[in-house]
Amino acid sequence: MREKLLRQDPVLQAIRDPDFPAILAVHVARVHVQPRPIYFIRTLPYRVTSIPHEGTVAPLTDFDTQLRAAVTRRLALPDPLPPTALYSLSQPVGKGHGGIGLLPLDNVAAAAKWASAAASATDVQRFESDAAPLPFQLDRKAAYASLLREGIAVAEDAINVYTQIEVSEDEADEWKFKGDPRLRLLPSNPDAIVTFYASQCRIPMLQRTLSACLASERRRRFVNDPLHTRPVQGRLYSCSARESGSWLQPSLRTHNLSDDQFEIAFRYRLGLDPVPFKLVGDCVLCGLEIKEQWHALSCKKLQGKKTNAHDSVMRLLGRYATSNDVINSLHLHDDGKLVPDGEFHLPRETVLVDHSGVHSMSSSNRNKVPGAGVKIRAREKVNKYRQHALDAQARFVPLIADRFGRLHGEFHKFIALIDANSLQCGTPSATRMSQSQFEIELAVLWQQWTAKIVYSYLQRCRKARYGAFRAARG
Ligand SMILES: [Zn+2]
Repeated sequence: MREKLLRQDPVLQAIRDPDFPAILAVHVARVHVQPRPIYFIRTLPYRVTSIPHEGTVAPLTDFDTQLRAAVTRRLALPDPLPPTALYSLSQPVGKGHGGIGLLPLDNVAAAAKWASAAASATDVQRFESDAAPLPFQLDRKAAYASLLREGIAVAEDAINVYTQIEVSEDEADEWKFKGDPRLRLLPSNPDAIVTFYASQCRIPMLQRTLSACLASERRRRFVNDPLHTRPVQGRLYSCSARESGSWLQPSLRTHNLSDDQFEIAFRYRLGLDPVPFKLVGDCVLCGLEIKEQWHALSCKKLQGKKTNAHDSVMRLLGRYATSNDVINSLHLHDDGKLVPDGEFHLPRETVLVDHSGVHSMSSSNRNKVPGAGVKIRAREKVNKYRQHALDAQARFVPLIADRFGRLHGEFHKFIALIDANSLQCGTPSATRMSQSQFEIELAVLWQQWTAKIVYSYLQRCRKARYGAFRAARG
C-alpha cells in the first residue's frame, strides 16, 4: 500500500514546483490526491491503512504528512503551523466552515469506512459471525465507535430505517448542497447496518453527510474553546461565509490570483502574519504604534490604494449591473463624499449604494463580537445617506464587506436583486455576468487588493527607511 501511495510522488513534486501556479497546487492537494487514499480506506482493513507496523508510521498518516509538507513548503508557511492555522488548513472551504479544505485523512477515515460498510453490508451479511468476527465486522464496529466519539448522534430506537427520519424545510434547505440530513444519524447499534440503510448498495450521500457533520462538530468545539480569543473567532466567522473562499477555486471564466497574491490571501485566511518577519515599533509611514501585523490594511498613509480598491469594486458592480440590463451610474470622484457611490435604476425603484471595506482584524475591531465591525459601518452609512435617499425618493443600500470577503446581508440582497431584474430570457447571453460569477470575481478582486496594499506598504516602508538613511548621510 505504501508503494501504491508513493505513485503519487509526481503530484507532490508538482505541488512543490514553483513553476506550477500556487492556486493549482493547493487545488490538486485538496481535491485530486484524495480519491486514491480514500479508496484504500474504504476497501482495505484499518489495520492495513491506519495502524502503524513495526516502528513505522501508518501509510495514510505518512501520506498526509508528506502532502502537508509539500503545501507548507510551496507557500513558504511557518513550520510547524500554529494550532489555529492548522485548524483552518484542515477544515472544508464551504459555507459554515471557512477552511482551506486540506482534510487530514484521519478526519475522514471513520466516515469513509462506515459508508463503505453500509454499501456492502447486504452482500457480506452471510459471512457475519459473532464467534469469529471478520475484519469487515471489526472495522465497522471501530468506525461506528469513532463516529460516536466524534459527536455523531444516534437515531431513536423507534427508527428502523433512515428514511423514517423527519426533516424540516429549514433543515432540507440548509443541507441542499451538503448532503442528506436524514443520514446525519446512525443506527442504534452497528449490527443494524443492513436494515437501517434499507439494504441499499448505493447510498451516495452517506460519507459526505457524515464528513460534513464531523467538520461541524470540530468547528463547534474549536470555536467554543475558551482558549480561542475573539480575533480567532472573528476570523473563523468571516471566513465561514460561502463567498469569502471563492478565490481558492481556480476558474477558467475569470482571472485567478497570482502566486504572490495567493500567498498573502492564504496567510490572511489562516490567521498568519502577512510576511515571514515581524513588524515592530512605530509605523514609519503614519507614526502610530503597530498593534497588529496587518497594520498595512488600516494605515492612513495607504488611503490612496484603498480608494483604488474601493473604486475597482464599484466598477465591477457597475459592469455586473449593466450586463444584467440595470441602468446605473457611478460617482467615484466625489471628493466631498456627499453623494453615495452609485445609483441603480430598476423598473420599480431607484437604489443608491455606498461601498466600504472593513478590516475586521484591526486593533479597534478585533476584540468586538464577530461581524460587529461590518454592522457598525453599515449603520453609519445608512445614517449618513438616509436623508439624501429620502429626498431623491430612492432607497439606500450600504454595500459593506470585510477584508476576508464576507459580505453584509444587504450587499447579498442587492446582488440577488440585480440578478432577478435581468431582462435576459431564454438562453443566457455569453456576455451576461451571473450572480455566482460576480461573487467569484469580487472575491478574487478583493484578495488581489489586499495583497497590493500589503506589498505597497512594505515597499513604501523600505523607501522611507532608505530616505532617512540617505538624509542622515547628508
Ligand atoms: Zn501606518
